[in-house]
Amino acid sequence: MIVFKFGGASIKDADSIRHLKKILGSYDDNIIVVVSAMGKMTNELEKLVVHYFSNESTENQYNLIKEFHLNIIDQLFPDKEHKIYTDIENIFKNLKSTINNQQSTIFDFLYDQIVSVGEILSTTIISEYLNSEKAECKLVDVRNCLKTDQKYREANVNWELTESLCKQYFTFKDTSKYITQGFITGASDGSTTTLGREGSDYTAAIFANILSAKEVIFWKNVPGILNADPEWFENTKKLDNISYWEAIQLSYYGAKIIHPKTIKPLENKHIPLHIKSFINSESPGTLINKNSDNDDLIPSFIFKMDQTLISISPRDFSFIMEDKLSEIFGIFADLGIKINLMQTSAINFSVCINHNKSKIDHLREKLGNKYKIFFNTGLELASIRHYDQETIDRVISNKKVYLEQRTRNMARYVLKRL
Ligand code: ASP
Repeated sequence: MIVFKFGGASIKDADSIRHLKKILGSYDDNIIVVVSAMGKMTNELEKLVVHYFSNESTENQYNLIKEFHLNIIDQLFPDKEHKIYTDIENIFKNLKSTINNQQSTIFDFLYDQIVSVGEILSTTIISEYLNSEKAECKLVDVRNCLKTDQKYREANVNWELTESLCKQYFTFKDTSKYITQGFITGASDGSTTTLGREGSDYTAAIFANILSAKEVIFWKNVPGILNADPEWFENTKKLDNISYWEAIQLSYYGAKIIHPKTIKPLENKHIPLHIKSFINSESPGTLINKNSDNDDLIPSFIFKMDQTLISISPRDFSFIMEDKLSEIFGIFADLGIKINLMQTSAINFSVCINHNKSKIDHLREKLGNKYKIFFNTGLELASIRHYDQETIDRVISNKKVYLEQRTRNMARYVLKRL
């Protein structure tokens, strides 16, 4: 059994859905197809939630999302009596009633109920299209089998329950192809939860682990994992084969190609992961497996933008020792602030985080009595794996270095563009 995952860019319009059908048709294996929302629809649904919470009209945004999907089904289903037209209408009616009759004022809860509609729409459209083209497949609502706690927007998987449910749902007895949603999951009270942005990768890895897949393939709009983001750098190189270890490092430091939680479930069962080009589906892409022979052949660099560097030092000029660090870490954990990089010195603790004004204000409130706190905003964090001087020079050129950290395989810089 193989698990496929198609991200938003690989199902962005009617043509790419036709192409998905072609790719699927070239495999005889049993396959679970995990699908994201189409194109940038998750971003558009996020905007809908923000409009709702700002008490702005949601009408235009709702219509934009609806038009996008209607336009795609119009191209895929020439028979205007096809049931897809009522199915999609009903999903939008439900979305409207979720918005209009909402009792909850909890942002994260409502976010998951609304944003998840992107994956419900995409899987409904794709499964109906495949079946209408005689490429039979069975749609499974992932919320019935991938179960989590109620930590909305970053739910934790209940592995035991999920395992027993997945084994009931994905039997491959009456079909060789299942299609299901990535990213979205279900809590025990029936509400929808999500695994965090870009979480479909993780969904695919969960299924692969539980059902002992032979391999996982992510179909992407890039030829494989590149050593830098082509948006920022020219002459990027493809990594042909890297180890799980290397892949987890790259994703942890912010390489956007794989969700950071994806690798562990695959490594634990030695399941290879292929990152392949959706367009050139025959080309080999990047293979991630146990083999570490090629890991350090090419320096890779990863950027996190919009970073804030926080410097914390005790007002009484005492050392930053374990007791102080434990107090500071406790507050970071309570506020849900994720640390991207940290460094201690005698009387100073520096951390680099994703910029978030309200969290920084709370941090100031909680620590301000005992500690002096300074901030630098508008920074970028560059992480260079298997660095050499040439790559470092390339990354830091025309930038002011605020902080530098080097280990054997990793050089990290907090930088400001000049
Ligand atoms: N649709 C979700 C997102 O854009 C999940 C995913 O694509 O993995 O974040």
